[in-house]
Amino acid sequence: MPESFLDLRSDTVTRPTAGMRAAMASAEVGDDVFGEDPTVNRLEQRVAALLGKEAALFVSSGTMSNQACIRAHTQPGDEVLCDASCHIYNSEAGGVAVHSGVTCRTIAGDCGILDVTQLEDKIRPDDEHLVRTRLVCLENTHNRGGGKVYPLEKVQAISAWARANGLRLHLDGARLWNAVVVSGIPAATWGACFDSVSVCFSKGLGAPVGSALAGPRDFVARARRVRKLFGGGMRQVGILAAAALYALDHHVERLAEDHRNAQVIASAIAHTPGLRLVPPEVETNLIWFQVDPELGTARDVADALKQRGILVNVSGRQVMRAVTHLDVSPAQAERAAETIRQVVRQVVPAS
Ligand SMILES: *Cc1c(COP(=O)(O)O)cnc(C)c1O
Repeated sequence: MPESFLDLRSDTVTRPTAGMRAAMASAEVGDDVFGEDPTVNRLEQRVAALLGKEAALFVSSGTMSNQACIRAHTQPGDEVLCDASCHIYNSEAGGVAVHSGVTCRTIAGDCGILDVTQLEDKIRPDDEHLVRTRLVCLENTHNRGGGKVYPLEKVQAISAWARANGLRLHLDGARLWNAVVVSGIPAATWGACFDSVSVCFSKGLGAPVGSALAGPRDFVARARRVRKLFGGGMRQVGILAAAALYALDHHVERLAEDHRNAQVIASAIAHTPGLRLVPPEVETNLIWFQVDPELGTARDVADALKQRGILVNVSGRQVMRAVTHLDVSPAQAERAAETIRQVVRQVVPAS
């Protein structure tokens, strides 16, 4: 995309900063499949400590991270319980079936947020006809749920119930950093609720590549084997781990700026006839909204914005998403808000 475009399609579009590139260029490296990349080892220790886990593993993507965790937790014929709109079920190319031979039982959460009472009756009895309920997956923040932060009490209730019933609990924390910054609840407090946690460096943190999974030492050892099986063993990958370490040092606290910028854009949407925030509150950097059919489709609005240099995501016939990130300044957020107001005023005749 030309530099003049303001790209709000995703927080994955960020480019590494000069400081991050310098850290990458000077990274000490070794063969990570031999366990000899000092920068990767440093990152894995740092992530494990942040999440309060014994060990962590650097992987190429959030998808690989989730899928390796699911594979390491399950046997073929097991069942995973998850929210119906979660990334693991909807946006990982059917990986749970392909890589792990497990099924998903989806449950409609409230903006992606499950309550323990929705799960309590979902454990299958021990019967040869039935799949074996084994794993529960939560997502925090919840992407399709509008960037919602899970209430910690809800996670703790699900965690206690899962433990009491011998189920494993996994967190897709692609945007856990956003939840940490908004809630003030440390990553380790969230991490304590889960058997495994996946986090991304390539979303709001602005690294070009990379995710990590964390959990008990024996679990991470199994996940390391799965990573190799998936073709994800990488060699002098400290160059990428250096970007992730740099992001942890410099780009976590600043997520608050993305959240402030999201409020500016959300407010414009909320006050524009024909557009509606769904859900009505924006808590983090994801702004999900819907277009009134009388105004047109999401594609119509996205095209009109594109003509004025703003790129947003079309996520359904009437559904759109705009995302703030490291490469969006407060002035650019204001520009996006003003452009949204203008575009829609031109399309909807004033009554
Ligand atoms: C982006 C994302 C992932 C996967 O990340 P990739 O690195 O794109 O594979 C997983 N979960 C959620 C909620 C995400 O938004």
